[in-house]
Amino acid sequence: MATEHQFKPLVSEQLLVPAEDLPSDGDRLWRGHRMIWKRPASWVPQLSAWLAPRFRRDGMRRLKPGLFRDLCWDDLDWSRTLEKCLTADIDYHTEELAEAIEPAILRTYHGCRTADAGIYHREGLHTHDRPAMIKRLQAIVEAHPELQAEKDRLPEAIAAVDNKLDQGRVFVVADDQALITEAAHYLIYGSEWISSVLAFHRHVLKKIGAPTLLEIDMPLIMSSFAARREFATQMLREWTRLTCNQPDWSAPINFTFTLRVNIPPECVIRHSHPRELVDPLAHFSTYRVLKAECANCRS
Ligand SMILES: [Zn+2]
Repeated sequence: MATEHQFKPLVSEQLLVPAEDLPSDGDRLWRGHRMIWKRPASWVPQLSAWLAPRFRRDGMRRLKPGLFRDLCWDDLDWSRTLEKCLTADIDYHTEELAEAIEPAILRTYHGCRTADAGIYHREGLHTHDRPAMIKRLQAIVEAHPELQAEKDRLPEAIAAVDNKLDQGRVFVVADDQALITEAAHYLIYGSEWISSVLAFHRHVLKKIGAPTLLEIDMPLIMSSFAARREFATQMLREWTRLTCNQPDWSAPINFTFTLRVNIPPECVIRHSHPRELVDPLAHFSTYRVLKAECANCRS
């Protein structure tokens, strides 16, 4: 719903100024282009340039860029607002965008717990390999005297966790805000599968290494078309919200890419160790990190 509250009126010419020097064809526009969701300046001009020829003749008049609309950031009406301005229905343009961004690169994030994040810089981030995870689990049990009694019960505990969804997959997210505030258990306890098998001894996992946030420049060609289409939907909605409401904050999307290939080490840009996290497995209490560093930080 549009309101009378109109601030900093934005005419279409102003909207397209940052896009003026960009190539007009989609392939040159997106090939190798690096996007960071929470930094709209890294993708909004490209999307403006891509959208410009798709606007109806009176599209900008319909959009009224700069006119505040009283909608939540995740309201579906952002798609309908944009659709009224375009030459075809929103699903068509969303699929076109999903194809267009295939050669682009998106900054993504992965949460884990490790004693040495250097392994990700050296070997990349691998899909869940169950035999390798069982070996890691056995090593954890071996290394902690308080778990010795669990040794014999381990095969039974493994069988009880009937989760095959992780196998052959690795998950990265498009925005670290949701990972830190809603899903920090990946950073506090590490592997969800190991954490499930050791559900009654989870505290031991907090003794290993440090909570770690990996930043990964993921080539979007590594993701499925369906995931890119869903992400394109989010891009178009957010572009419309940013163009209309001109907020000074980006939408905190909770968006996960499920990959079936290993992420090579050159895509792992950096890692960090957050000092304070909210633990969803402990009634959302605050978890303060005593040692926010790993072997790689100290070397
Ligand atoms: Zn480190």
